[in-house]
Order: sequence, then C-alpha cells, then structure tokens
Amino acid sequence: MVVAPETAQLSETQHTAWMLINLLARAQRVVHQVKVSCPTDVALTGRIVPLAPRDVELAEALVSGGEAVGAVPVTPGSPGRDDVVLIVGATRLDGVPGRHVRGRGWWGGVGDSPIELTGAPNDLPFGPYVAAALAAAEVFLDVRLPAAAERRPTFYGWDCWKSALVAHPGELTPADLRKVDLSGTALAGVGAVGAAWVHTIWATPGLIGDVTLADADAKGITTSNLNRCALFGHAGLDQPKADEAARLTADSTVTWRPHHSRLEELPDLPTLLVSAVDTNRAREALQHRYPPRILSGSTRDLRAEILCIGPPGVGACLRCYNKPESFTGDDELRARTRTGGPDAIAALAKTASVPTAEVADWVEQGSCDEVGARLLRTLRAAEQGREPPRFAVGFTSVMAGVLLAAETIKTLIGTPLTSDSPRSNNVTFQFFAPASNINGAEHRARDLSCAACAPTNPATAVWRRRFDGKGGGPR
Ligand SMILES: [Zn+2]
Repeated sequence: MVVAPETAQLSETQHTAWMLINLLARAQRVVHQVKVSCPTDVALTGRIVPLAPRDVELAEALVSGGEAVGAVPVTPGSPGRDDVVLIVGATRLDGVPGRHVRGRGWWGGVGDSPIELTGAPNDLPFGPYVAAALAAAEVFLDVRLPAAAERRPTFYGWDCWKSALVAHPGELTPADLRKVDLSGTALAGVGAVGAAWVHTIWATPGLIGDVTLADADAKGITTSNLNRCALFGHAGLDQPKADEAARLTADSTVTWRPHHSRLEELPDLPTLLVSAVDTNRAREALQHRYPPRILSGSTRDLRAEILCIGPPGVGACLRCYNKPESFTGDDELRARTRTGGPDAIAALAKTASVPTAEVADWVEQGSCDEVGARLLRTLRAAEQGREPPRFAVGFTSVMAGVLLAAETIKTLIGTPLTSDSPRSNNVTFQFFAPASNINGAEHRARDLSCAACAPTNPATAVWRRRFDGKGGGPR
C-alpha cells in the first residue's frame, strides 16, 4: 500500500490509508503480508488510528496500528514485482501498475488511474472509509472469487450522501459537522458493524453529546472477532466489547456510555436507536421497545444493508422480514435421536465418546447429568454445522458501519436517505457486483405479516406518536 506523497498530509488520505491497512491486516488466509510505503515526517491530522499512540507521525501510526491488530504482519516496505499495489491519494507511480483508492467527504472510489477530485478536501471519514472497503473487497474477490474480478469496471465510486453510485463527490454536501449533537443516540451491538460505527463516529471531527454503547456478549472479544471488527486489536481479547470500544476511542468528542448488557434492558429509551445486532431475535427485542427513531445496519455474505425504520405501520420495522431464528429445544433434539433409531444412537455415542448404552438410556429417559449435557452439546454443534457456510468479512461490516454512521448524522440533521426519492428507507451495497445498479436506495414497505408494526397493534399507535415527536406516555 502506497500513500501518495503529494496528498499524504490530507485527512482524507490518512483516513483511507488507515482503514485499508486495518482491513487488509485482518484478512487472514487472503493476505499474506501488508507492506506500507508512506512518506516520513507527515503529522497525523486528527483522530486517524485508534490502535496507535496519538503523538506519532503518520507512517509510524499506520504500521503500529496494523501490527496492533495482531493478525496479518504489517511492515514498512516498497512494492515488489509480484505485489498487489494499492495507491492511496493521487499519484502516478511510473511503471508500477496498481489500483487507485481515494475518498473525499461522503464519497469514495477506486480506479485504474489516479483519481483527480474537484472541490476542497475536508476531514470527514465516510468517503475515505468507503474507498478502503471497496479496495479491500477487490483484494478479497481476486483471491477467493477470481471470476468476479474479470467483470470489474475500471472506475466506480459510492456517495453516502446520495446513497448511490456516482463518479464524483457532491459539491454541496456538508463538510463541517461540528456541534452535531448525538445525545439520546444509543448503539445496540458492538460487533463487526457496531465497531465500525464507533470507529467512524470517533473519527468525525466535532460531534458532541452522550452516546450509549450496549453489548451483552458474555465472551467479550474473541480471536475470530479480530478478523471482522475493524476497531479491536489483539490487546483487547476477552474484554467486553462496549467497554473496549469506548476505551480505544476515549478521545472522541462525543462521550461514550458503555454497558455490558442488552440495550433493551437499560432503563432509558433512546431517541435514536442504532441497531447493529446480528440476530433476528435481538432485532425483535429492540423493536419491542418502540423508540421514536431506529436505524439498522446488517450484513449477509458480501452485502451490506441499511434500513431507516418506519414510518410506523408504513415502512418496514426491525421485526419485518426478520423471523426470529428457530431454536431447537433439548427435548426436540432428544426426540430426533430416538426417531433416528439405533443408527442415530450409535453415531451420537461415537461423536460424543459416550457408551452406546448410556446414550440409549438418555434418549429414553432424558437427564440433566453430565452425560446428558455432553450429548446435547454434541447435537447442538451438529445443528449449527447444518447452517450453510457464510462469508464473514471485514469490509462488508465496515461498509455497513460507515453507512450506518453516515445515516445517523443525516437523520440528526434532518436529511433523507436519498434526495432522489424521499420515500426510500433502504440502501443496499453488494460487493460481488460493486458497480451494478442494484446498489442504491429503494422503498421497503412493512411486512404485512408482521405483528410488531401492524396498524391494529396498539403499540404501533404509541410508536407513531413517539415517531411524530408527540411523546408516548409510559414506556
Ligand atoms: Zn414490522
């Protein structure tokens, strides 16, 4: 990764460079090593690298931040003959073919030649982070799904302000978000999408207010989280996610209120709920609190999606189309083994290393002893193995988290998801076809079978009053 010397002093270049290193450094089994070529004696322009000391220069911050991830090795170095070269900022490297990565304001793009931008540079991280996600996705697809690379356009870009593919940054988008007040905003879930949201809010200059972060994951940060959560480093392993996110970004201009619990268990109802939870069961629990405004970010395989929930009874809610995951009960697992007969009993005995006679007893009588618990664990593991394998990749989560942060700001300053069609409440970005016109905003009506936002549900009327700013009585 080459940081163009001509533009290295710009925030937009520094944000792009860091997020790209951050993503590549997590791409184990895709990226072997990240080499960073960056001019020395360039000062950091602000909050750029959460995993590095704040008082070092850019080149050192990029490398030490990448090393702090603790996955793929990150070192200083120049491009070698067989390296994939990514050039951040505007420069022409004579004789070195590479992909150019550039972001400005709310816009980010990638292309085969240096990307020249009009208008004045600014300090916002949204577009730079989008550019980094687009470039990291290309690296991933080149390795895992080379056929996708053959169809790749020479140049494309995404604008978070318009929620659309456009070739250049908008001239009239706001660049100064100082004093935008996030008080009353609460983030539910500090996993991969939520961590990217925190990272983006932290890097945005001048935002103010108290922000709640809630995550109840009892395991805290795990090694597999490091591959997807583009905020945490190796030093944070086992820590509760909300606390660690707040600690790493404690120099934010907003004040974090971290909680190691579910958001719906906290006493105060947020005015703006930002949902980054990853199960439908959790989405349903959040919807049942009926906060006035809700934004949702999610990923599936190579797709990032944002939903501006409501209006109540009209647009989709958090529960719509999201049937809570079925949970297979203990008795059902036991009954299934009994139905499977001696073969199923023998197979379970073998996998769980339990004598066949004991499995047969358990199948008939059930028990809460150690053998029963062991057999249930074995069956549950097999149950989960039945789920189709999914890609869980950092760039998709970063895209969802950045778009979610951009929509958070837009909601607070009264800007619609897209000015092209005011009814649009959904935005989708599919990395498998990054320049396709399926990527953009559309309207997602409520799910007619959803009870949570049915016009006949009294809660929908309460929600409607809150949504309209008329208060809602007791929670
Ligand atoms: Zn609904």
